[in-house]
Amino acid sequence: MSKIEEMLEKANVAKSNAYAPYSKFYVGAAILSENNNIYTSCNVENVSFPCGTCAEAGAIALMISSGDKVIKEILVTSSGKELVYPCGACLQRIREFATTSTKIHLADDKKIIKTYLLKDLLPQQFSPKEF
Ligand SMILES: [Zn+2]
Repeated sequence: MSKIEEMLEKANVAKSNAYAPYSKFYVGAAILSENNNIYTSCNVENVSFPCGTCAEAGAIALMISSGDKVIKEILVTSSGKELVYPCGACLQRIREFATTSTKIHLADDKKIIKTYLLKDLLPQQFSPKEF
């Protein structure tokens, strides 16, 4: 099994565990770090809506808490009929740990449909270098 196949499989598992009782919109994300580790998460909603978190944010937190620092690739899949893109806040979260070659894969249950570089989705970036 390739790393990308493993990412999709694990993102689907995470998606199936999503806590989305309000929207019924299930999202799974999988990160491949520069050390070739895979970190996954799902969206976690809250009755106080702004307290909910995105799948990408959870996967980033798991990556950081596990000691990795660089996102080589990130895959996002959802239960929706359309591909789901990372939200604006998550693009900024990804940027914090990205390189110029970080890939963002959008997938359905079975395969990757589109792949972008972060700069394609976030062309004007507020980067850690500017802080
Ligand atoms: Zn998000």
